[in-house]
Amino acid sequence: MEYEVVIGMETHVELDTHSKMFCACSARFFGAEPNTNVCPVCLGMPGALPVINKRAVEFAMMVGLALNCRIARHTFWERKSYWYPDLPKGYQISQYQYPLAYDGWLDVDVRDLSTGNWSEESVRRRIRIRRAHLEEDTGKLIHVGDKSYVDYNRSGVPLLEIVTEPDIRSADEAYAYLSTLQQIVRYLGVSTGDMEKGAMRCEPNMSLRPKGSDAFGVKVEIKNLNSLRAVREAIAYEIRRQTALLERGEAVQQVTMGWDENRGVTVVQREKESAHDYRYFPEPDLPPLEVDEAWLEQVRRRVPELALARQDRYRRDYGLSAYDAVQLTGDRAVAEWFEQVVAAEPSEGSDRRALAKAAANWIQTEIFRLMKAGGIPLAEIASIKPTPRQLAELIGLVDRQVININTARQVFEEMFATGADARQIVEAKGLAQVSDVDALRQVVSDVIAAHPNQVQQYLSGQEKVFGFLVGQAMKATQGKGNAQLINRLLREALKS
Ligand code: ADP
Ligand code: MG
Ligand code: ZN
Repeated sequence: MEYEVVIGMETHVELDTHSKMFCACSARFFGAEPNTNVCPVCLGMPGALPVINKRAVEFAMMVGLALNCRIARHTFWERKSYWYPDLPKGYQISQYQYPLAYDGWLDVDVRDLSTGNWSEESVRRRIRIRRAHLEEDTGKLIHVGDKSYVDYNRSGVPLLEIVTEPDIRSADEAYAYLSTLQQIVRYLGVSTGDMEKGAMRCEPNMSLRPKGSDAFGVKVEIKNLNSLRAVREAIAYEIRRQTALLERGEAVQQVTMGWDENRGVTVVQREKESAHDYRYFPEPDLPPLEVDEAWLEQVRRRVPELALARQDRYRRDYGLSAYDAVQLTGDRAVAEWFEQVVAAEPSEGSDRRALAKAAANWIQTEIFRLMKAGGIPLAEIASIKPTPRQLAELIGLVDRQVININTARQVFEEMFATGADARQIVEAKGLAQVSDVDALRQVVSDVIAAHPNQVQQYLSGQEKVFGFLVGQAMKATQGKGNAQLINRLLREALKS
């Protein structure tokens, strides 16, 4: 029998606010000495009172809006009670009955990643978002030998939990969903989204069912996934494991599993306890959360155009390939930089599509290469030289055949190093392309005179020798010759 996998994703995103969810301690705890980043509130001391971090609420609203959710106008906080040493209060402040955001969706482009090669083809899938609610992170247990230690630096860091409907149908789709979500929180600037550092943690819930059925099978939840690659591998492994069970006529047990990165297998962490009783009840120390239209509108204005929308626009308006569009929108700063180049006036006889294509090429080749060599992260593209306007000018010089593309690369390196305008460099170094017909005609006839054998070969039908002769002429102009013109003059001269 053929089976279909059904996956629903639960994702926790740490919000990158200055302070914690309900106290003034820093939310940026990474690398700090254990238990130095704490106060009576996040240590759960009796009598300490929480205060809502407005910025965290706004960040959560931004994610909700980006995920096409409805934003609740009236919500309140609830205590989710359970006991664990990393939870000093004995409860977590969360939202249960009324999540801040709910009933949304996220469109993702799913590509076949099994070959390891880029695929221009993709399938667009819509994953429904059930809810996104705010809560606070727990502390961290550290196990050393037979001892366990607890670090409360993370206790109380704002956490957004995002839960999908069971709409994901493959490991590639799960990957597409998570990488798109990660990109969104980075575009919004609300989280680093770093899975390796635990700033984004995801738990796929998955089950199998006979293909064509619409009933749901028994689900398994997978934890401990700290990279996108681990997510794909764990899901692929679980599909094989559950398929084998079902094919043997055995039942899948409802359990929580952990991913063992080293062995590449899932292992049972705990059997399904009888449904947790978290004894949710309204948090008496915090006022309800009211979101009015004016506030929502103000937050809405802070949500930028997201990567997928930009990709569609670049492909439609500028005829870029899917690959180029994905590369240019990977980082919001790069996309904005690209758009500033394209906003410049295209040179005469050219158009915005050509300008966009040239900009896309420059960014993906020279700019990415030189930024990488200089150790500049892509997010800091705004700090490089040339400016977008200066690059547009360089593109214009190539368009108008003032310089050829090889010279342009040389000029670009100089612009990157010094910040000078392309025009200045071309003038100062005498790099302008030679388009003087008489001068080039002389060059061409010199080349013909100097290479009688090659000319003979060309005339007897060896077309590829033509390229050699063009190369000789270019060399004679120190690479500055107008290649198109040289081509034409050479053909003419050889004909006569
Ligand atoms: P739980 O109470 O066990 O956490 P929920 O109903 O809250 O379960 O769902 C948690 C996640 O699991 C959601 O993303 C949901 O879409 C997904 N899910 C629920 N049932 C199934 C199933 N049978 N197979 C796969 N995913 C499921
Ligand atoms: Mg769950
Ligand atoms: Zn604190």
